[in-house]
Amino acid sequence: MMKITIFDGYIDEPTCLGVPPFISPYPRYIAGAIWSYNKYIDLKYFTIDQIRKDPNINIILKESDLIFIIAGSSVPGKYLSSYPASPQELINIFNTIENPIKILCGPAAKYGFGFSGGHNINRILSENKVFDLNIKGDVEVIISDIITNKNDLDKVDIFKNRDNAHEIFNYSIKGSKIVKQHPNYHKQLITEIETYRGCSRSIVGGCSFCCEPFKGLPDFRPINDIVNEIKTLYISGIRHFRLGNQPCIFSYMSRDSSKKEFPIPNPDAILRLFKGIRNAAPNLLTLHIDNANPGIISKYPNECKEIAKTIIKYHTPGDVAAFGVESVDPIVIKNNNLKANANDVFNAIKLLNSVGSNIGKNGMPELLPGLNFLFGLKGETILTYNMNFDFLKRILDNNLLIRRLNIRQVIPIPRTPLYEIGNKVIKKHKMEFKKFKKSIKENIERPILKKMLPIGNIISDVYTELNMGNITFGRQVGSYPLLIGIPGKLPLNTKMNVKVIDYGFRSITALPFPIDINKSNSTTIKSIPNIGRKRATRILLKRPFASKKEFINALDDSEIAEKVLEYIAIN
Ligand code: SF4
Repeated sequence: MMKITIFDGYIDEPTCLGVPPFISPYPRYIAGAIWSYNKYIDLKYFTIDQIRKDPNINIILKESDLIFIIAGSSVPGKYLSSYPASPQELINIFNTIENPIKILCGPAAKYGFGFSGGHNINRILSENKVFDLNIKGDVEVIISDIITNKNDLDKVDIFKNRDNAHEIFNYSIKGSKIVKQHPNYHKQLITEIETYRGCSRSIVGGCSFCCEPFKGLPDFRPINDIVNEIKTLYISGIRHFRLGNQPCIFSYMSRDSSKKEFPIPNPDAILRLFKGIRNAAPNLLTLHIDNANPGIISKYPNECKEIAKTIIKYHTPGDVAAFGVESVDPIVIKNNNLKANANDVFNAIKLLNSVGSNIGKNGMPELLPGLNFLFGLKGETILTYNMNFDFLKRILDNNLLIRRLNIRQVIPIPRTPLYEIGNKVIKKHKMEFKKFKKSIKENIERPILKKMLPIGNIISDVYTELNMGNITFGRQVGSYPLLIGIPGKLPLNTKMNVKVIDYGFRSITALPFPIDINKSNSTTIKSIPNIGRKRATRILLKRPFASKKEFINALDDSEIAEKVLEYIAIN
């Protein structure tokens, strides 16, 4: 029997994420295409993290007939406990594997690697000739050709793309059970769901830095296809979903999407989609969105308000609509054919705040905008930095909330209009960029975080992911989850509620809530407001406490003890 392995080196694209806890559609569609070809094929799935931990997996790789390697980033990302495979890592692994046919797919095969803003795409993999094929088109529609022609790969058309969005339906269904082989399957695993690809703004050439227009005009997946895929994933045990694989969720099924740069949104289709998902996965734990075009929201406020209300009705709180603002400098907007001006973005932020800023049942605001700013664009000057700062200050002064700010430098992607200027502008404004980031952290991000989540707020369902010294880092599962530092070395992969006690620039400090005062570690106890080192020692020496009264009597100050009771549990 033929043995095939899918190797997931993780991908990060502007409209798709596959770094844990996310699993991208790539491995699911590939598995579906393989099992559609022959349901008896012995198919294994490994992630780069598994191979980092257990080099013996190499033996399984070596015994495969075919290996599909998914890898590559075309946007700079920041990760917590997992990070994508580097080109050198892939070379080290696959140079030692000779017999199997090795097929590279994902952004690494299409464009190369773009790990950090301001640096050109790394094409070392194609230059090294480590792989037998680099797939430029849609791998799932080429798989049957690859398996059939595995002894004569020249016959495979590596540029072949799907004819329409429905063509992937069977693959998405048949491949869904591959999620059970993901190492995060029994923990928190979010499936990135595709709703469509392509951008209406490709009519006018698209934004200068973006590769989405290569995919042409929007090609929407039918509602039933998406709902059935989610139903199948749900049956396979998945409880976390993100509709993240599209340029703008507000534009899903929009009318005239092939004729207008800013097509009219379709609230009815979005209502049917979200309602269908909730019926298919009634006990889901996460349903979030990702990208949204502020130009669409500003141009069609009534339709978009209705859409936002629908999303809030059916989603889970802590949701983020990521706006690609890039810049509010009119010259940069014009030179790079960007999608929205300062007023458009401001209006879109205001609209989402009006319906989405309430705190939801998991302690986070229901739905807020996240803003992406991009530097290194054509026409950028020092004034651009001032304009972007003033714009963000205006948001703060108007008491509007944003869930996150992403400030990046461009990665010039081949074939985009920006590619010709490369990283010239970035080099010129290197110092300004650093200063801007620092100033935004201090003057904008921290104050907004304080307004959004006051001290004492309780955030639920936080998963602990990483121990660093005496601090444990955790996050909720979802789109752009807030990073939470918890004092004390706590067990990992544990779900807990936490209470906010302090703020970093882009993160918060919170304590487990409630703290089991009879069992908790000294660092956590020491961090309870008003406790400190001396009182923590006193508590450790005098515990266990059988009642609140015993606890109050044990502290030197009964008033402080009463306050501390807000954080702790006894028995
Ligand atoms: S609006 Fe611009 S950034 Fe967004 S997908 Fe289209 S071309 Fe890309």
